[in-house]
Amino acid sequence: MAKREPVYVALGSNMGDRGAHLAYARNRLGTLPGTRVAAASRVEETAPIGPVPQGAFLNQMVVLETTLEPRQLLGHLHAIESERGRERQAGVRWGPRTLDLDIVRWGERSVREPDLTIPHPELPHREFWLRELAELDAAREPARG
Ligand code: AMP
Repeated sequence: MAKREPVYVALGSNMGDRGAHLAYARNRLGTLPGTRVAAASRVEETAPIGPVPQGAFLNQMVVLETTLEPRQLLGHLHAIESERGRERQAGVRWGPRTLDLDIVRWGERSVREPDLTIPHPELPHREFWLRELAELDAAREPARG
């Protein structure tokens, strides 16, 4: 089998039982067709971003290996968010959410479509994503020396 590009997906929750939402997402991602969760970062708490007053987030990043294409994975991510009661409010960005799933990076691929940008455009601005990526990459690197 050809070597798969690592797909980095960010998980976030700031409503209800945040840890349970993240655990659900991790398990559910592993049930997607042709997909396995190869690694997960530590879970960390971060302050909310933007103008809407809301509680702190729990965040985590996972690495998937998948035969899905980016657009197919995005459809599955939206379905999983809905399973945790996420309602997308028209016009409201940056609001509280039971579960938020974002495709952060897909190997060396670049996708530029109206509703899907990879690498995720917020990646350079989210320090915790950069930290989680570095943690996962360090764990994936074969030991040197
Ligand atoms: P959000 O409010 O963070 O859940 O994002 C809303 C929309 O961002 C989704 O409906 C996607 O179509 C779009 N989007 C664009 N690029 C990405 C990406 N890399 N990962 C996830 N969603 C994306």
